[in-house]
Amino acid sequence: MIPAFTAQSTGVSLENRASPTATEPEIIPRSAHNVSREEISKSALKVLYRLHKSGYQAFLVGGCIRDAMIGLHPKDFDVATDATPDEVKALFSNCRLIGRRFRLAHVRFGREIIEVATFRASANHDGDDAEQDVEGRIIRDNVYGSIEEDVWRRDFTCNALYYNIADFSIWDYAGGAADIRDRVLRLIGDPGQRLREDPVRMLRAVRFAAKLGFDIADDVVNAIAGNTQLLTNVPAARLFDEFLKLFQAGHAEKTFELLRHYDLFAELFPATEAAIRDDDGFLPFIMAALRNTDRRVAAGKSVTPMFLLGVFMWSPTRRLADEIRREEKMSEGQALSLASYQLVADQQRRVAIPRRFTVPMREMLALQPRFATTRGKRAMNFLEHRRFRAAYDFMVLLTEVGQFDEQLMAFWTDAQCQSREDRAASFQIHGKPRGRRRNRRRGRRRSGSGSPGSS
Ligand code: ATP
Ligand code: MG
Repeated sequence: MIPAFTAQSTGVSLENRASPTATEPEIIPRSAHNVSREEISKSALKVLYRLHKSGYQAFLVGGCIRDAMIGLHPKDFDVATDATPDEVKALFSNCRLIGRRFRLAHVRFGREIIEVATFRASANHDGDDAEQDVEGRIIRDNVYGSIEEDVWRRDFTCNALYYNIADFSIWDYAGGAADIRDRVLRLIGDPGQRLREDPVRMLRAVRFAAKLGFDIADDVVNAIAGNTQLLTNVPAARLFDEFLKLFQAGHAEKTFELLRHYDLFAELFPATEAAIRDDDGFLPFIMAALRNTDRRVAAGKSVTPMFLLGVFMWSPTRRLADEIRREEKMSEGQALSLASYQLVADQQRRVAIPRRFTVPMREMLALQPRFATTRGKRAMNFLEHRRFRAAYDFMVLLTEVGQFDEQLMAFWTDAQCQSREDRAASFQIHGKPRGRRRNRRRGRRRSGSGSPGSS
């Protein structure tokens, strides 16, 4: 059940938020739901109990309750309370206040952080600490309120279930429990308005659909269709954070398919989308990389965003590098480096990728031509390059989809575990065995004169 909303004109700078007429929650007692305290982190419980004992309301809300209800094990716990951030800070010595757009309290327990948010009201009075831009996007929002007000500001009904630590019941104002049962993602209020307020909700819809296997409600699908271009108004730094959640949460392949299905991917990575359309081999390569990322996440291995970003940039970079080389004489590696520099600069306007990722990513791409050479010292020294491993993994993936030579790949795979002597033989380097003079080495040597296997 979605409550009716009334739109009233107040004539103030903020667009009217959907404001609910229903303010009574359906209270689901502990005996009628499956969210057990076993599933809740000890730290989150500590925060909830202390708030409660100090006379405040204390609820768990958001993804943790949603996930627990569908039998996933939540790992991220968000607390909502009527205590203000300063009041929260006064209760916990391990607490820090953060954020400007939303002021929040972070209570730290070792490596775990419990986020505590004060209930917020919809702000529509002059002088409120809230702001929207001309398109209706909320820029700042720090007006505190009650739980009855807080609920309507959340995005999806399934994200608006409140678990009350006072009696372990779940408060459901927006029909979230029914939507979880029906496995549907429904925005609270008018979908068009909610997406204009925060276009990132379109990405969140896709992310949750991929993660939970839920359908996106028809009215949300329709509203997305008319609003995809609004993503260009979202700060690029926020879209990078969202990129990480979209592609590093273990459902990258499904997420990517849905992003493309709803024409959202082109808003984030326009050059990648254009290249997919005119380079047949590009999509299979991307899909292989996404599957690989999901496998790594499932196995608990680390993933770096620079690898996938490199994959997304690969076809456009190669194409531009070819153009550059037609105009100017330079090596393939140099042209790839230059091309990726230009493309990354364009891409940054959409998704702000920090330099610590763009620099290694460009190196990884520019190194690809070096896998074609297997003779001589320079080729052998490539094994010692600090970006060799990333470049190698990238090349393996290209080989997997038939876009690089299998024998060359096998050569570089074997070379990594060979002894110094065998390696020199593989690279057809003749002469005295290297390494004996190592201790007498002084100053810098010309590259190629050291012993790659020994460092
Ligand atoms: P997960 O942690 O699995 O990514 P989540 O639902 O907990 O999912 P968070 O980003 O942690 O997502 O946000 C916590 C809660 O805050 C959400 O469940 C939702 O109620 C609310 N929320 C977060 N972002 C928005 C948004 N952009 N618009 C409205 N409500 C939001
Ligand atoms: Mg969360």
